Amino acid sequence: MIRFSRVNKWYGDFNVLQDINLHIKEGEVVVVCGPSGSGKSTLIRCINRLEPIQKGDIVVDGHNVNDPKTNLTMLRAEVGFVFQQFNLYPHMTVLDNITLAPIMVRGMERRDAEDLAMQLLAKVNIPDKAGHFPCQLSGGQQQRVAIARGLAMKPRIMLFDEPTSALDPEMINEVLDVMKTLAREGMTMVCVTHEMGFAREVADRIIFMDGGVLIEENTPHEFFSNPQNDRTKDFLSKIL
Ligand code: ADP
Ligand code: MG
Repeated sequence: MIRFSRVNKWYGDFNVLQDINLHIKEGEVVVVCGPSGSGKSTLIRCINRLEPIQKGDIVVDGHNVNDPKTNLTMLRAEVGFVFQQFNLYPHMTVLDNITLAPIMVRGMERRDAEDLAMQLLAKVNIPDKAGHFPCQLSGGQQQRVAIARGLAMKPRIMLFDEPTSALDPEMINEVLDVMKTLAREGMTMVCVTHEMGFAREVADRIIFMDGGVLIEENTPHEFFSNPQNDRTKDFLSKIL
């Protein structure tokens, strides 16, 4: 579903991603971890071309992401992105936040888009918030709206960039629970997160990055019980 082949990216003369090779299968849940500044956000932002790359290839569900002929709107419709800072449209209701893209990009009838939005709000456990504005919701509720908004495009892949890092501790689990449900339903997911309990429970694979290099990838069991690289061991000793 996602294939990185010898991907290199530079910010100016800083080689932020170095020779990344990565292959993610349909339905796989991959957690990306590593120290701050290691290139995790950059890596996942390349998947829907929020960031361009300078060398190598990224193929997502058959689309060569950096080919100028690739239709970015359609690529991004297939790849949902959930940010640390929710990024909801503040002047729109929850319902309008969710229905905007299905109506504008997918050409869905408003009534169908609203039915879908209500189903998704039920799925993320806030069926009663459709008429609220983002500022009237808690952080955990806003992030669940952001997930519902991503799902409304019926994406084939969902990307999460530290979706719980801006939340108060008591709200983290309500967001992780929604992500766990998606994972169990077979969604292909790439999640940058420091929630190692989540990683242990639902990841098929954990990737560790440091200094723009993909240092290690393994099953959660092997990753935690038998890390291979000294940098991985050092990172785990700080966060576990
Ligand atoms: P992470 O998500 O692992 O914390 P990032 O991918 O955000 O790491 O950043 C990796 C490195 O690239 C950091 O050193 C960061 O300062 C740098 N960086 C990120 N975005 C930009 C940018 N737009 N321009 C220049 N440098 C950047
Ligand atoms: Mg980041």
